[in-house]
Amino acid sequence: MSEEKFARPANSVQLLAVSKVHPANEIRKANAAGQTSFGENYLQEALEKIGKLSDLNLDWHFIGTIQSNKTRPIAENFSWAHGISSIKVARRLGEQRPTNLPPLNICLQINISGENTKSGITPDATMAIAKEIITLPGIKLRGLMAIPEHVTDFEQQRIPFKKLRQLKEQLNRNGIDMDTLSMGMSGDMEAAIAEGATIVRIGTDIFGERPKKQG
Ligand SMILES: *Cc1c(COP(=O)(O)O)cnc(C)c1O
Repeated sequence: MSEEKFARPANSVQLLAVSKVHPANEIRKANAAGQTSFGENYLQEALEKIGKLSDLNLDWHFIGTIQSNKTRPIAENFSWAHGISSIKVARRLGEQRPTNLPPLNICLQINISGENTKSGITPDATMAIAKEIITLPGIKLRGLMAIPEHVTDFEQQRIPFKKLRQLKEQLNRNGIDMDTLSMGMSGDMEAAIAEGATIVRIGTDIFGERPKKQG
């Protein structure tokens, strides 16, 4: 990765391999090559793969949108959920987290580019939501996540990532303890690392182009 290029300390950026749509045997191969953290967006598909790969010691991150009636299998099968945009979903995840597991790590999804088409919390609402979420049992607020609008220019790509970093810093200064910026995908990973990403979510650059979903 580009840690050195952007003066980031070694191992300060974690690579999350986004394996959605790719079959279990591809994940098995990536794990044999040393990758342990995998991100999935589609719950049913993810649960099948988690079942098939239960002989491996993998770290599963749910990175899709979470419907409030689908929280239980996420609470039971994942170690992270990145797409939290409501207190209700966070509360359910915490209530349904099995007590023999460590708290579920969560990231609040922030609508950082401000388009109303993208899901996520507005930056202005984040502080109040974070304050409530840190009181909930069964979950641990780790940080912020965003999927900015697609642009190709490096300097343009940096703008929303910088905003997300500054929002995290502002929350940190106001007593919200969190360490994670989940930002950057195959097309904008470098800009995200330059702006302080601690987790980059990479699918295409690891597994190749995704086949189009049927239907
Ligand atoms: C699919 C997906 C990714 C990975 O995207 P690539 O462009 O293939 O690297 C990352 N984050 C989220 C939320 C995704 O849905």
